[in-house]
Amino acid sequence: MGELGTSIQYLSGVGPKRAQLLRSELGIETLSDLIHLYPFRYIDRSGITPIAQVAPDLAYVQLQARVVSRTLYGPGSSIVSQESDPIHWGAVKRLSVLVEDETGRMELVFFKGVKWNYQRLAPGATFLFFGKPQAFGNRMNIVHPEVDVPQDGAMSQGALTGVYPSTEKLKTGGITGKVMCKLQSAALSLCLPEIQETLPEYILQDKGLVPLAYALKNIHFPADSYALRKATYRLKFEELFFLQLSLLKQKFIRSRGERGIPMPKVGPDFHACYNALPYSLTGAQQRVIKEIRADLMSSHQMNRLLQGDVGSGKTMVAVLSCLMAIGNGYQACIMAPTEVLAQQHFANIQKYLAPTSVQCALLTGSTTQKDRRGIHAGLEDGSIGIIVGTHALLEDNVVFRNLGLAVIDEQHRFGVDQRAKLWNKGPSVPPHILVMTATPIPRTLAMTLYGDLDVSVIDEMPPGRKPVQTMCIGQNRRNAMYKFMRDEIARGRQVFVVFPLIFESEKMDLQNLEKGYEEIVSAFPLPDYKVAIVHGQQTNEEKNFNMSAFVAGRAQILVSTTVIEVGVDVPNASVMVIESAQRFGLSQLHQLRGRVGRGAEKSYCILVKDVKTSKEAQQRLDLMCATEDGFEIAEQDMKMRGPGDLEGTQQSGLPIHLNIASLARDGQLLTEARNCAERILEADPQLSLPGNALLVRELRKDKYEIKDYSKIS
Ligand code: ADP
Ligand code: MG
Repeated sequence: MGELGTSIQYLSGVGPKRAQLLRSELGIETLSDLIHLYPFRYIDRSGITPIAQVAPDLAYVQLQARVVSRTLYGPGSSIVSQESDPIHWGAVKRLSVLVEDETGRMELVFFKGVKWNYQRLAPGATFLFFGKPQAFGNRMNIVHPEVDVPQDGAMSQGALTGVYPSTEKLKTGGITGKVMCKLQSAALSLCLPEIQETLPEYILQDKGLVPLAYALKNIHFPADSYALRKATYRLKFEELFFLQLSLLKQKFIRSRGERGIPMPKVGPDFHACYNALPYSLTGAQQRVIKEIRADLMSSHQMNRLLQGDVGSGKTMVAVLSCLMAIGNGYQACIMAPTEVLAQQHFANIQKYLAPTSVQCALLTGSTTQKDRRGIHAGLEDGSIGIIVGTHALLEDNVVFRNLGLAVIDEQHRFGVDQRAKLWNKGPSVPPHILVMTATPIPRTLAMTLYGDLDVSVIDEMPPGRKPVQTMCIGQNRRNAMYKFMRDEIARGRQVFVVFPLIFESEKMDLQNLEKGYEEIVSAFPLPDYKVAIVHGQQTNEEKNFNMSAFVAGRAQILVSTTVIEVGVDVPNASVMVIESAQRFGLSQLHQLRGRVGRGAEKSYCILVKDVKTSKEAQQRLDLMCATEDGFEIAEQDMKMRGPGDLEGTQQSGLPIHLNIASLARDGQLLTEARNCAERILEADPQLSLPGNALLVRELRKDKYEIKDYSKIS
């Protein structure tokens, strides 16, 4: 390894201090790291705008103008005398420079670097100014424009200048945008001769991609906008392609390699349950069950992710899948993230199982020792066919006679090591795995995060689900809302009131919740109303007690934090009130809204916002009022926030780092890259053809390996 691996410190213009800055601020250690830091946008400096044509909302403009006069302002816009010698700089707050060209005059403003700019911007001299104009009253100005001395040929280098990620520390440490360009230029001239192509010729040809060295040069210093487009396309494609190739390769290896339990039959219990269903399956449910059936029949292990919005009917799919396992002489388990959910699953599943001969049991942390012994025995001798439970299922003393299928509900709460524990509970071959999630994930993200899983989607709601009417109100309409709640309660309905976790400290959150609770209680007093409260600081018993009071209809209002977010089913609840709704993320709002609209009654979701609601938050609330489609909400969410922030993955960030491609914006390209990778693996699953040697070499690099899947689950 030659120049590429050279420490950044030895690049001319860097030195130990700047090297340290580049390392700590941008993670750059070597020349290779540096040239892989790409501009995140480009500024077109080709044109000069006449001052008369400068308008606000023009993105950036470049002026060539002569300095007319300078004014120094002190506090309260008092003018600081420039007659005194020396000027009293301590009193100066701002420098205003009036400039002109043949078409007009305008003001430039500096709050920082006042002395330096005052000194260099001498009246009569001409400069290039570059910046973003803004309207200030009825005049225009530019705050902190970049200042250049016009030079002949200064712009012949190419009109597009890259803007690099930067930080305050980098700027104060002298690594300005200009310096960064110089460093990149120096690094590129050393490194370019060493750059080796990473993609085989046939892919370059097929996809019309430019060579890597050309792409690197033009991503930093585009010859023109066409070259920049070609360079960007090439680098994004490469990044997404290798990521997909790596994921798909793992999947190919597994589907060919990992033996699974063959389950050729469906069995009588499946039919008994199916035939007794009070409704027919939706088209989406039917499709997904067929996909699962095909997996179980093949001799490979199933690893399938089942995505379906809240209320789309995943439970029944899970039960029918379990019954297929049972029809082949195996046991099945269904694991839920919380005790309340496990209980609810258990109750629902028992109803589905009534027409069958299958025995089902519930195992959670609060199962008594005595019951536990019975359950352990039933699992070991195979008399229990389906076990529903929490993490308690993972304990070592839970031994199955022959576990054939494990269903994991609400995937993101379980870690990969926990999934691995389930794997080992199979007889000698790992059980089939079905992971269910109600968090809609945009397709591009799913292709990447779960690129090695097969994905099924239930994209259709059962008929008869009424739309939830969603509205967003301010504090001034609180009384009207209370009246509305009373009316609904008078009609026998129930109401959820959810408070956000606002403060860092749980104690403060609790205070906040309790304040809200007191307000609700005083607006809905005994004996006419009963209000239950559930939050994370209660013991399991308290939680269960309050929860069941609401589920059984003894309380009309449930005040809670987001603990009810996942899965709880109270069909009689018709109103979801979300307090301080502007503080919630979109997917959380969507999950919460999914708690209502489950019964026969028309349902409502009321988003109560505070006075201080940012523009972005308002956008989220507007989107909630506009659509109920979870996938649409997820797509928009990703566009608004970027995929790294997406809820469900946000706690830990994405497990992969993309340098140039964006999962939010490059969906089309991602699909192209994935198709290309798929075709290659189909023709050459082991990548053993000489023409693919380059690919193997590239895949060995750490960059394309998703190591820590637990981060996303
Ligand atoms: P999810 O777990 O996906 O949120 P559930 O499985 O709890 O959804 O189903 C939500 C509700 O819809 C349940 O009351 C269930 O009985 C009902 N349901 C499921 N499938 C259908 C169907 N095909 N037709 C009508 N109702 C259905
Ligand atoms: Mg569910």
